[in-house]
Amino acid sequence: MKKPIATPSRTKEILETHDLFAKKNYGQNFLTEPSVVEKIARSAIVSDHCVVFEIGPGIGALTQYLCEYAKEVVCFEIDERLPHVLADTLSEYTNVSVVLQDFLTIDLREWVNRYREKGMDVVIAANLPYYITTPILFKIFESNADIAAITVMMQKEVADRFHAKVNTKEYNALSIITQYRCDVRAVMKVPKNVFHPKPNVDSAVLQFTFRKHYANLKEESFFAMVKACFKQRRKTILNNFQEYCSDKETAKAYLEKADIDAKRRAESLTLDEFLHLYEVMQDDR
Ligand code: SAM
Repeated sequence: MKKPIATPSRTKEILETHDLFAKKNYGQNFLTEPSVVEKIARSAIVSDHCVVFEIGPGIGALTQYLCEYAKEVVCFEIDERLPHVLADTLSEYTNVSVVLQDFLTIDLREWVNRYREKGMDVVIAANLPYYITTPILFKIFESNADIAAITVMMQKEVADRFHAKVNTKEYNALSIITQYRCDVRAVMKVPKNVFHPKPNVDSAVLQFTFRKHYANLKEESFFAMVKACFKQRRKTILNNFQEYCSDKETAKAYLEKADIDAKRRAESLTLDEFLHLYEVMQDDR
């Protein structure tokens, strides 16, 4: 590698050379600390035969390290000013391509299948634009595409919810729906002073790997039940659940059958307890 892009001086130089400024509406906060991008890249690559899909390469800070470690890198960038900047900053690499498209509109399964057919492992890596972190992750989760791992940086508060443990204030329906689908690992915390421009909040990097799904579980209906149980956080599980079941006696009977105390709150129920409650309801139908 010639020179890391992720330093304050090199970032400034690239922005000046190309007469660029960070666009707030695209969530542009460029990383300026090489040890952080190196760690994200190293964590993201899970085998010798990897293609990385990077969401939002910016001026190439993370891309550069991905190009060093992966067989191939495909970047999806929404900002039309950036492909020609990347052609310059990544000119030493032949294993990278840039697709100028909103990631939310790509056919992810088709992209993934294209590389799976060549026997490559597909991973996703990104310093995510904060304004669409959840829609991007849910697009990936819901694609059912064969992705080996997703390693992404996001606002720390959002990361805390994705991997929250039971009985904490961060634990909510999003935590359960995510943890039902994926194993979630915290890779690192990243302070706000290693970005240009500096955001208002700290960040964290998480890695998601898909879990095996439960056979016969109607996911949408299970997720609807979980969301209903968290509808009013401070209420008991019975109070929220009876609204979902349409009557108190039925709700009480299901909770009893699932061995869940009606006075508990949703935030104290584990994923397995939610799954069991759902199973009890299904058995009765
Ligand atoms: N990866 C670079 C880094 O770490 O320095 C830039 C990260 S910056 C937080 C987010 C990047 O995502 C920007 O390059 C932005 O233009 C891009 N972006 C924003 N919305 C996008 C979308 N819907 N699809 C693809 N890229 C997007």
